[in-house]
Amino acid sequence: MLNGRKLEFRSPGAGAEWHAVRIFAILLIMNAMALAGIFEFGERPLGTEANRQATEFLAREGERLGYEVERLPFKCVRWEKGPSAIFRGAEQLEVFAGPFSPAIDQWLDGVMVSTTQQLKRTNCKGKIVFLRGEIAKEPLMPLDFPFYFPDAHREIYALLDERQPAAVVAVTAKHPACGLEPYPLIDDANFRIPSAYMDAAALERMLAQKGRIRLRIDSKTFPETGEQLVIRKKAAGASKGKILIFAHMDTAYGTPGALDNAAGVAILLAAMGRLQDYAGPYDLEFIPFNGEDSPMVKGQLAYLERYGKEVGRVKLGINVDAAGAKGSKTAVSTYHLDDERLAWLDGEIAQYSLMERGPEWVESDHSIFVFRGVPCLALTSSTLRESVMALSHTPRDTVDLVDRALLVEAAEFIVRVVTDF
Ligand SMILES: [Zn+2]
Repeated sequence: MLNGRKLEFRSPGAGAEWHAVRIFAILLIMNAMALAGIFEFGERPLGTEANRQATEFLAREGERLGYEVERLPFKCVRWEKGPSAIFRGAEQLEVFAGPFSPAIDQWLDGVMVSTTQQLKRTNCKGKIVFLRGEIAKEPLMPLDFPFYFPDAHREIYALLDERQPAAVVAVTAKHPACGLEPYPLIDDANFRIPSAYMDAAALERMLAQKGRIRLRIDSKTFPETGEQLVIRKKAAGASKGKILIFAHMDTAYGTPGALDNAAGVAILLAAMGRLQDYAGPYDLEFIPFNGEDSPMVKGQLAYLERYGKEVGRVKLGINVDAAGAKGSKTAVSTYHLDDERLAWLDGEIAQYSLMERGPEWVESDHSIFVFRGVPCLALTSSTLRESVMALSHTPRDTVDLVDRALLVEAAEFIVRVVTDF
């Protein structure tokens, strides 16, 4: 019915029962369409006006549905960039400003570095250091990233700090986990050396020229504020713990973020709508995490600061990220569920024609809870690795890639899991 796809029902039956099922399905779809509002906000990184408007929209939806809405404020940084370039000899080459980079426009000498060992030995002071090859093979985690920070990355930051280059230009290819090509090696609001990135073809053209290099990075940051919402409903009677349902609402820069992750928030909203009269034994928290696609992860940190000590009370966390891609099913991966729960869950999944069990993955907010031993489910598109990741964080992540029928079914699945848990 939507996107030409007919919803399939478990046991269509006949007569009144069939009619009720059909009415119910139509209501569900109408509900999901009304909730499509989240797709209207477009690019919405932390600290932007669109991010604040999306937050207001979600807060109002929570209140309208009778939930208690808590706002946890945080400080963050917004980034604006203009065109950046390298000039050398006869060439003007396109480079891209590193996220949150300070601006620079200077004629400088350049040095090439391809390993950490080389960086230790190279005099970089006051020069442009070009990082390529081994040292630029994967994006660096933001400095002291709270959930994961490898020693190898710490060493690179420490060396850059010590060697004092005037600027860092990374030569990169395809990002391992999103569609950017080339990608920023450094994506960190606290890194104060001007940084940029370029592809190998641009580097070759630059190397064919002689003399000093003019690097112009047009980039600026602004202090801003944002909010992490927690939309909740208390258990009926004595509480047996919490169930968390979450989907990140922010985007990276330069993408409308339809699959990543307006679709997930639409599922969250649809589940909120269906669970407004929940009268079960668990406290429910709906959390539109604000910062999954930001190096600052501000919303997640604000949540953990306030509720981290209650993580032991969380009996189930359900994350939705990059679900709902046309041509996919919804893949449900599980973490820390015991055999009894797994058998029950398989029974639930089997009720839905567009859902299946999927492999574990760690790139999203469920990791925060999985690392703390919390039983979790993560819903994403079964085509995450082969197609969705190649679109994410690019201008191509648009609403026409989203299959509304998948959203409706995923929301229905979450409602059943929460109700039967
Ligand atoms: Zn995402």
